[in-house]
Amino acid sequence: MRREDRATAPSCPRCGYDLSGQVATWETRCPLTGVCSECGLDLSWTEVMHPERLKVRGFVEHEHGWRVLSSAFRTLWWALLPWRFWTRVRMEHPPRLGRMALWSLSVFLGCHLVFAGMRLASIECMMSTIRTMGRMVPGAAMGRLEWYLNCVLTPLLWYEPSGLRSDLPQVGPFVILVGEWPAFAWGTVVAWIAFPAMVMALPVTRTRAKVRGVHVWRAFGYSGAGLIIFLLPSLVRAIDTTWSICVDNTFATGVARPGPRGSLVLIAIMIGWLAWWWGQAWRRGMRLARPVLHIGVLSIVAGMGALVSAGIADSDVLLLMWP
Ligand SMILES: [Zn+2]
Repeated sequence: MRREDRATAPSCPRCGYDLSGQVATWETRCPLTGVCSECGLDLSWTEVMHPERLKVRGFVEHEHGWRVLSSAFRTLWWALLPWRFWTRVRMEHPPRLGRMALWSLSVFLGCHLVFAGMRLASIECMMSTIRTMGRMVPGAAMGRLEWYLNCVLTPLLWYEPSGLRSDLPQVGPFVILVGEWPAFAWGTVVAWIAFPAMVMALPVTRTRAKVRGVHVWRAFGYSGAGLIIFLLPSLVRAIDTTWSICVDNTFATGVARPGPRGSLVLIAIMIGWLAWWWGQAWRRGMRLARPVLHIGVLSIVAGMGALVSAGIADSDVLLLMWP
């Protein structure tokens, strides 16, 4: 079979098996539904023959022009409630991984900018209090431009005019901060990557279930919506700063990162959400059996990976778990 024939040949949405052999057996009538002889998926032949006709209104992969922007927000809203996403987006809708990657990147950047905006607002609040109260706090010596730069560049780089952090690698006047990521950030990122890595790697899951890798990639890409959890500490921090300035008439000068207990709570929320997401992807998205067993095992392993990485990043987290 030539390459271009293969590209248009009817294939199973789940396992990619070439179904032209089945189609060739049709002589007098064309059935509306069928079953994939490779993976057992129930098929609608219209959808198999013309996948390009299937469109989900408001889904970022299927919109064009300016509507892509509004659909990006709608897709994020669906993705935060996994059952909502997976009842709309099905395997039959041909994945557009480039569009998905762009969406994931935008969600990351968008979250980061909101994060930076919150920090900026609390720093502005702090600065104005310093001016009116005439008190000095650490960091107040830095100019507004440096603070703005730091808000946009953290958690990767931090501007350090006095070179206080000479223990960390430097790029000109900037200090590289990747090693300074809070424990909860390590835990949630490890959990986010662990789920698809295990689905792809474990023969008992993907190979036996005969699911095309592209569906796992899609589930991984949109599960990036869960990383919005990164906003929670800065939200708490912004509320705390505003509260202390407006109500207590002081200002909190602690570091904007949750303590060991807060880290554990955030990691637990992330694991719970990911288990919900992958459970829905497994059952509704890929229409596979035994979601509770498979996703339960994945959640336990991903949870352990997340806790170990958080424990390595911050030994206080480890002490809280095993005193
Ligand atoms: Zn199949």
